[in-house]
Amino acid sequence: MSKPQRPTPRVLTVKNAYHLTPNMIRVTFQGEELANIYEGCAGANCKIFLPAVGQSREDFAQELATGRPTVRTYTVRAYRADVMEMDIDFVDHGDNGPASRWACSAKTGDFMGFRGPSEVKIKDFYADWYLVAADMSALPVASAALEAMPRDAKGVAIFEVTCAEDKQSIDAPAGVEIQWLVHADPHQASTAQEDFIRAMDWPTGVCQTCIAGESGVIKSLRGFLAKEVKLPREDVYISGYWKIGLIEDEHQKMKRAEAAA
Ligand SMILES: Cc1cc2nc3c(=O)[nH]c(=O)nc-3n(C[C@H](O)[C@H](O)[C@H](O)COP(=O)(O)OP(=O)(O)OC[C@H]3O[C@@H](n4cnc5c(N)ncnc54)[C@H](O)[C@@H]3O)c2cc1C
Repeated sequence: MSKPQRPTPRVLTVKNAYHLTPNMIRVTFQGEELANIYEGCAGANCKIFLPAVGQSREDFAQELATGRPTVRTYTVRAYRADVMEMDIDFVDHGDNGPASRWACSAKTGDFMGFRGPSEVKIKDFYADWYLVAADMSALPVASAALEAMPRDAKGVAIFEVTCAEDKQSIDAPAGVEIQWLVHADPHQASTAQEDFIRAMDWPTGVCQTCIAGESGVIKSLRGFLAKEVKLPREDVYISGYWKIGLIEDEHQKMKRAEAAA
């Protein structure tokens, strides 16, 4: 049986783009192309398609329909159906990747392709307590999960950011304690999140997780949660979002190979 055809990506228009914090760029898209997206999609991932420098909108739309522009995976940070707006937060890791480079120069009227969103990562919140951990690439998914939790939820959220000014204000339940860790060079492996988690007093009861970030950190944490803590798989969302030294395509290939092994 042939694979179902994927819909052609939408072309979204930038309303504005600015540094939310020193190492995070918020891009807000606005326009009719954002109609018919499900409400409550904050935290779901999406594919973004990047135009070449200087490419016209018409040319890019044509390429989206028939060619293979550069594609990357991001998270819907917020969607406001009433005004047809969407926010996507991009880590500013300089001009060494097409997505970061695009976001660094994004301005009103710019455009990119968008496919998605997928389903949100955590649909049911049923735990006695929540463990959330994220580096900057996963702040959008972790923040959206914290915002969607029941207001009486309890737990711990650990965020690793590049500098103290990268802390964000997040509408988390009052019972979730937020810890900010600073790791100045994201290209150097860090054990800060795992050290913190290992040193915690683990509450009893059902624990659900929302954990994502650099693949090396995630691999080690996944092993700890599965083999030492023995958390049931169905209660765990944990995912490698990028890997030091690899571009996204290489990272995805590595993940597929690991999953198949
Ligand atoms: C489900 C999912 C959701 C994601 N959501 C978001 C999101 O909302 N916001 C977000 O910023 N990222 C998000 N990411 C991560 C993002 O897809 C990767 O960071 C991606 O590699 C960025 O593409 P790029 O073109 O900027 O860099 P690439 O061309 O992929 O990589 C170029 C170089 O930059 C390095 N690099 C990549 N990402 C980072 C980083 N975060 N910090 C430092 N160096 C880096 C690579 O190791 C490589 O050396 C998500 C990933 C997944 C799988």
